[in-house]
Amino acid sequence: MMPSNDANPKNVDNTSPESQGESGRTNFIREIIDEDIKTGKFGGRVQTRFPPEPNGYLHIGHAKSICLNFGLAMDYNGKCNLRFDDTNPAKEEQEYIDSIINDVRWLGYDWEDRLFYASDYFEQLYQWAVHLIKDGKAYVDDLDAQQIREYRGTLTQPGKESPYRNRSVQENLDLFEQMRKGEFPDGTRVLRAKIDMASPNLNLRDPVLYRILHADHPRTGDKWCIYPMYDYAHGQSDSIEGVTHSICTLEFEDHRPLYDWVLDQLGIYHPQQIEFARLNLNYTVLSKRKLIRLVQEGHVKGWDDPRMPSLSGLRRRGYTPEAIRNFCDMLGVAKSNSTAEIAMLEYCVRQDLNKSALRVMSVLKPLKVVLTNYPAGQVEELDAINNPEDPNAGSRKVPFSRELYIEQDDFMEVPANKFYRLSPGREVRLRYGFFIKCEEVIKDEQGNITELRCTYDPATRGGDAPDGRKVKATIHWVSAAQALDAEVRLYNNLFDRPNPNDDSDGKDFTAYINPNSLEVLSTAKVEPGLAGAKAGTGYQFERLGYFCVDPDTTADKLVFNRTVTLRDDWAKIQKSSG
Ligand code: ATP
Ligand code: MG
Repeated sequence: MMPSNDANPKNVDNTSPESQGESGRTNFIREIIDEDIKTGKFGGRVQTRFPPEPNGYLHIGHAKSICLNFGLAMDYNGKCNLRFDDTNPAKEEQEYIDSIINDVRWLGYDWEDRLFYASDYFEQLYQWAVHLIKDGKAYVDDLDAQQIREYRGTLTQPGKESPYRNRSVQENLDLFEQMRKGEFPDGTRVLRAKIDMASPNLNLRDPVLYRILHADHPRTGDKWCIYPMYDYAHGQSDSIEGVTHSICTLEFEDHRPLYDWVLDQLGIYHPQQIEFARLNLNYTVLSKRKLIRLVQEGHVKGWDDPRMPSLSGLRRRGYTPEAIRNFCDMLGVAKSNSTAEIAMLEYCVRQDLNKSALRVMSVLKPLKVVLTNYPAGQVEELDAINNPEDPNAGSRKVPFSRELYIEQDDFMEVPANKFYRLSPGREVRLRYGFFIKCEEVIKDEQGNITELRCTYDPATRGGDAPDGRKVKATIHWVSAAQALDAEVRLYNNLFDRPNPNDDSDGKDFTAYINPNSLEVLSTAKVEPGLAGAKAGTGYQFERLGYFCVDPDTTADKLVFNRTVTLRDDWAKIQKSSG
């Protein structure tokens, strides 16, 4: 059955329920699938695949492809395979394979028993290459890579045929077998498809199908020293697996004629390649080549550095699979490239964490407060709500005593216009606690504020004054004696400009790394209920944002990553008051 190259059939009823995803919106790929189901192409089956090359960790761009491929399979009662496109042992490693498996699972998708590797098909792919040679459709070329490039021509000039193009079938078969046996050094010969050196599509100018590479493969070891190129391996792997819709990113549009050509020459089952626009994010790089450099050159601490757009980095930062899936769903599926805003991803993260994260109090930059009229040695327990968004989350007790910490930013000795929080002589509410009034400011010899002496009003327990007097601010706090020490890592964009990929000024993207992407606060204090908090757990630190326990946490010190700030109104208020 021949695939139609019409990527966007018209006259499709896109209001039919099967064409709509989680968001209820349709897209051009769903329209194609709906039409294929209607016409009985592929017998009504939907079989997709996610085909990562294990040469790096997955990033948020891959998440878009994962959500799309697995999501379509789920919605259409089809199947989605996880297939490693492991055809280049020079760059591929088991570490990457393991991380990819882990990340796809974490995102919430299941390939059941369909975990495949292109390397499983090496023998079949080789046999098909022999078939092409026998049909006069492929030949062994002795030109080196540089010469092949020169002979290829340009968009405006046709290519030149290789002097080796018209070898006999027998000579080609012998040479190809010798290539397989390891009789030639790397780079001395390749197998090329014999198509058309004058084709307007450069991908059809006798593309390379196999190259010699004496490298150990993570799965096949030293069994092979010739490896298939992506363009040759991919379509045939899709065919072997019975893929119906082979979804890839736009840069492969010009490769589709080659994808189709090989399948047609071999006369085997023919999936349909469909291209969509890849995800780009502002303030972010998403090319694996660049991400690997960030790791290897030490610009970040590793693939799972919370500043990385890798799924392992986002996970460590506290992003949830739900938030990432919602983000991908909101993005939709387009046919032309665009750049999404990181603010939209953060919006999705806030939406999800707002529902699920328990609220706690934490003071990032502590300022000591002594309540002069509170009995020394006394501790009382106040009720605090765990999650106002979730009635089932209940409440907890937080200790209150004579010595507290509040946020340095919540005090101004000379309050700016519109600053309503604590200042000398002024009264504010402590969250879940009492009204306190600042009576005295204590400073060290350098004039730095070291402590505030305040009084509290016992009649305001729980938050309101019986006499009806009002305060204009409520601030968070922790009780000094019971608070736990914590290190809090605040993250900002890793790049200082919206498009770090723009190299029009001739600079490398690393020139745009934001020097302030990480700020470590090592003297933070958190409420005692967080003792023993598990790595990966997310909390809302009231008034501050969402934070997640980092695996660097030890018995002595909790370590938190700021996942995302609260709604930006907070930043705005701070700016106008500070
Ligand atoms: P890079 O260009 O960063 O090296 P890649 O495309 O070579 O990435 P693969 O491992 O081959 O990485 O990608 C696996 C699948 O994920 C492919 O189908 C690819 O099209 C898709 N993919 C990769 N990056 C993105 C992206 N930014 N947006 C959407 N899909 C993507
Ligand atoms: Mg790729």
